[in-house]
Amino acid sequence: MLSKNDFPIFDTHPNLIYLDAAATAQIPTGVLEVVDKWYSFKNANVHRGLYSLSISATDTYERARHSISNFLHIKPTECVFVRNTTEGMNSIARAYAPFLKPNHSIIISELEHHSTLLVWRTIAKETGASFKIIPVHDGRIRLSDAKNVIDSKTSIVIISHVSNVFGATQPVKEIADYAHTFGATVVIDGAQAVAHMPVHPWELGADAYVFSGHKMYAPHGIGVVCITEKKLAQRLDHFLLGGEMVESVTADSYKLKSAPRRFEAGTPNASGAVGLGRAFELLHDDNNWKHLNKLSSALFRVIQQSGATLYSPQDGDIPLVSFNFNGIHPDTIALALSENDIAVRSGYLCAQPMTSKLNASGVVRASAGLWNTNEDIEKFGDALKKIANRSLS
Ligand code: PMP
Repeated sequence: MLSKNDFPIFDTHPNLIYLDAAATAQIPTGVLEVVDKWYSFKNANVHRGLYSLSISATDTYERARHSISNFLHIKPTECVFVRNTTEGMNSIARAYAPFLKPNHSIIISELEHHSTLLVWRTIAKETGASFKIIPVHDGRIRLSDAKNVIDSKTSIVIISHVSNVFGATQPVKEIADYAHTFGATVVIDGAQAVAHMPVHPWELGADAYVFSGHKMYAPHGIGVVCITEKKLAQRLDHFLLGGEMVESVTADSYKLKSAPRRFEAGTPNASGAVGLGRAFELLHDDNNWKHLNKLSSALFRVIQQSGATLYSPQDGDIPLVSFNFNGIHPDTIALALSENDIAVRSGYLCAQPMTSKLNASGVVRASAGLWNTNEDIEKFGDALKKIANRSLS
């Protein structure tokens, strides 16, 4: 099980109570070691050299892909490395756009991150497809609301597995099953899910499932698009164009490689992929999931006891809670917490239509990770009470 001692950031910041896991997770020694080893012993471009260092680098990179695919219960050919969720979502949208016609609809939900909202709204404008938004009540998308907008014209549905505003798991399987009855494609944003539970994208009904490594204890700049081989990968042309994704090129044509290589133009972040592989190995331990569950209840309890208005549902599934104190700007709370060496997020959380509906100035969000202890959460609760009393008195 991972605990505070595994995260060297706390050697240099011993008093820091880091509650911004949903923005980015701290990195454990085990992950840092494999990245360091890559650059010290393995570094070469992958899939390009015939010399032994490059062959060994390619082998290490592809083994990381195999290992990650095993954890996700997908085939290695269905695991495409990208930089992050944002790049993954943009890439799918661009590649999918040629299939959209003006009589089609694109469906998202009201709680989606800007990396879904902005991207797919732009694609809708460009293609003439209509753009529909499933409303959200009490932190969760309701299947009945989804059924009101998904119909025979729906070409694609894009929804979050776990909300970065509410920390609540969404009924993605039920919505995907319904969307599939109309033959629609389903894309799931897993950015906030993969660090908190074992995820099997195809069992959830996804045709594509996208996530970032940096929210699950891996380095920045590595993420994954899981893409179903038959349903989607063979239909989509490419993400980016460039080196090592083509079989052959002539002056006026090219033939693409098969997936996943056709979707990985240019030199990939191989050390990041290896770090992500190690993060999966370290994370997938029942004791980690249990610790995260305990943090989830503790976080909810201390915020509730501080007298805050909570937006996250009580049975929120990950240790992520959004809240406010009436009359205090969320940034004021975040700054006051920072004076106590407590790191939280405040503002619109890149989901402005949803958060500004909750509160005009946005929200405060506390999100815990495996480095957090019960003591951290209690100290956070105490600081919160003091700030609320001071500001409201
Ligand atoms: N989707 C969700 C639900 C997120 O929480 C985030 C990160 N806040 C993203 C997408 C975007 O992730 P990234 O910045 O790593 O691309």
